[in-house]
Amino acid sequence: MATVDEPGSAAEVTAYLDQCAKQVRITHSSAIRCPRHGVTAYCHVCRHLHTGEGLGYLATRDEPVQAWCEGCDGVVREHGWSARTDAEAGWVLCCGGCYAEILAQHSLRGWAGFSYPEDSE
Ligand SMILES: [Zn+2]
Ligand SMILES: [Zn+2]
Repeated sequence: MATVDEPGSAAEVTAYLDQCAKQVRITHSSAIRCPRHGVTAYCHVCRHLHTGEGLGYLATRDEPVQAWCEGCDGVVREHGWSARTDAEAGWVLCCGGCYAEILAQHSLRGWAGFSYPEDSE
């Protein structure tokens, strides 16, 4: 199950996105080079956030950061993180700058932490 904290303030979200968009060294373990944003740590968004706009989303603050929409979160709550939820999310790899741009089109609903079902067994 995903554990959800209180959604962040606008300032907290801005600081988070700025942090994600920050350039890192090419030797960084999750470095990715983007033609528009240079070298940042890679991020994942669900396909709905990638193509849609005005959605609510949940995001993690641990690297590599990841965000998914409320629709995906419904599947997570029902089934936990599994191949099925991954298929629903259809994760899109993007750079930190693109991630910040994408999430600026949506509204944070909460911070989430991962706990895979296997971990609790
Ligand atoms: Zn989604
Ligand atoms: Zn980019």
